[in-house]
Amino acid sequence: MLTVNGPRLWNSLMEMAKVGATAAGGNCRLALSAEDFAGRALFADWCHQAGMSLDTDAIGNLFARRAGRDPQARPVVMGSHLDTQPAGGRFDGVYGVLAGLEVVRSLNDAGITTDKPLEIAVWTNEEGARFTPAMLGSAAFCGVLPLDKALAMEDAQGISVATALAGHAGSLPLGRPFDAYFELHIEQGPILEQASVPIGVVTGGQAICWLNVRVTGQPAHAGTTPMHLRRDALFAASAMIRQLEQLAEAFAPHGLVTVGQLLIPGSSRNTIPGQVRFTVDLRHHQDAQIAAMEQRTCALLQQVAAQRGLTVDIQPHWFSAATPFDPDCIAAVGQAVTALGYPHREMVSGAGHDAIHLARHCPSSMIFIPCVGGLSHNEAEDALPENICMGADVLLGAVLGRAGG
Ligand SMILES: [Zn+2]
Repeated sequence: MLTVNGPRLWNSLMEMAKVGATAAGGNCRLALSAEDFAGRALFADWCHQAGMSLDTDAIGNLFARRAGRDPQARPVVMGSHLDTQPAGGRFDGVYGVLAGLEVVRSLNDAGITTDKPLEIAVWTNEEGARFTPAMLGSAAFCGVLPLDKALAMEDAQGISVATALAGHAGSLPLGRPFDAYFELHIEQGPILEQASVPIGVVTGGQAICWLNVRVTGQPAHAGTTPMHLRRDALFAASAMIRQLEQLAEAFAPHGLVTVGQLLIPGSSRNTIPGQVRFTVDLRHHQDAQIAAMEQRTCALLQQVAAQRGLTVDIQPHWFSAATPFDPDCIAAVGQAVTALGYPHREMVSGAGHDAIHLARHCPSSMIFIPCVGGLSHNEAEDALPENICMGADVLLGAVLGRAGG
């Protein structure tokens, strides 16, 4: 079973981490900044040394290509992103890109030419920290976001993607057909580490349902209004939120419920709150289950409001359906990890990734490895060298299985 050169991959990760390094040991390579372009240039140098050719598309997605025996075949693509959060870590995204490079270097060492061409994709503005939305480059590539809209997005300084890209966009067509897409990534959560399992075979992305809730009662004097005559919107909201936590338990372990924002408009310490607004974020990997969660959320909020003589208004804000990954790609990862004998478990991606868009374009799947303490989007983000190496071994096996070697 062919494996990668772990120390070489680790060294490349540490070299890349010097580009846009922060004082606290993290990275700041905001999308299409000087640091991001410096990171891309370093990656391009390494790809040239590995015998690959490079080109970009109209939104600046960068593709490094290794020819296969069949030049007509669609490429098997690995990839992720090189941009980071403003106070980001050394592994989020970068790992998937440089592991792709390590796969190519290892194939070079072994003298293996695949039937299908291989490509490494560096997607533009995955983080969404400089330009919104996140995963902008892959969205434009997959036709989820029209190119003109993507190019017109502006950062906080009013600089557009088109301006920031100047000289870095190329002529590769958007939406080119791919044979398959594999993205290797740190988990960005604590599940694998807690379970002491080095490899996550990712079966898909979760559905997300966002609701805006407004509870309306009666504002009144805190000193003159007896408790039983109050219609306190905040006590009602807190009863609702307590029940939402119980709702999550009813959909455990896959159902997730978060109330991330709560506003008391015009709040005052000696006035009974007359209105409270809060957000609800529901997640589940099955569309049917998230629909059930939404239905039960609405029912329980209405029930609490009715019991307390208040009104509640619930507005859907955003919905994103679950993204099941391709069974053949999941199987290719499963076969690779089984052949290697590495402990693994199937899991769902909790975060958004470029692979979520790619899954609508071509057969796709992801591989996760643990990150220390489950930390990500954090300068202290870390991963163990042995896990870094194991994840890349699995990527190599899955890609070889798909590309034919
Ligand atoms: Zn990422």
